[in-house]
Amino acid sequence: MQDIQIGGLVPFTTIDYPNKLSAVLFLVGCPLRCEYCSNPHLLSVGNGEYDPERVLEWIKSRTGKLEAIVFSGGEALMQGPALFQYIRRVRELGFKIGLHTNGFYPNLLADAVDLVDWIGLDFKATREKYPDLTGQNIAYDNMIKSLEIWQKSGKDFEVRITCDPRFISKDDLVQITDILSAKGVKNIAIQKYVPHFESDTNKTTEAQRNQFFNDENLRAQINSGFDSVVWRE
Ligand code: SF4
Repeated sequence: MQDIQIGGLVPFTTIDYPNKLSAVLFLVGCPLRCEYCSNPHLLSVGNGEYDPERVLEWIKSRTGKLEAIVFSGGEALMQGPALFQYIRRVRELGFKIGLHTNGFYPNLLADAVDLVDWIGLDFKATREKYPDLTGQNIAYDNMIKSLEIWQKSGKDFEVRITCDPRFISKDDLVQITDILSAKGVKNIAIQKYVPHFESDTNKTTEAQRNQFFNDENLRAQINSGFDSVVWRE
């Protein structure tokens, strides 16, 4: 079996796993090609820059200082068995395991239920706009299957919606949050789209990006449907 391919590491964060001090490993490879991707260097499967054994030694050295290790990407589940084997080794060290996923691999997510304690799942747009945003026709349906699989597991999770105004309108956001509320989802995060590259800065205006966050009526309407709504600006 090929080793896990790690392309990036954030050694300390308080925001990537709710209420836990954690580190994030960014795995290479992703089946989607989102317009707003902030990690394009991670999208193609190739050799990761980090030696997995050295990273594991480093994780061991964080015992007592960190509570969780979060696997992000790219799409971490794309690494299948290599990911699962690595997670088992991290779990043996006593860390909680978080997973950021776009939901493209529901069967692999089902296989990961016993290994992962919490997920952050992307709900990127309405069904109609998903192909334009992600470059994949089946991404929406797969994401919904992943959501349902994780809900059945009874484990904690958060659904995350990044509001890129090129792909999400206020009406879309209401439509998406209505779907999530009807499905009984309790915790969501509404995330501001932040251009990450110089070439992106002129594609949307600050006012367009802020429109979801400045609308008190919209916020109140959405907040009323959930136990927790985090507005990440
Ligand atoms: S799912 Fe995430 S990593 Fe993959 S292309 Fe989209 S934004 Fe980038």
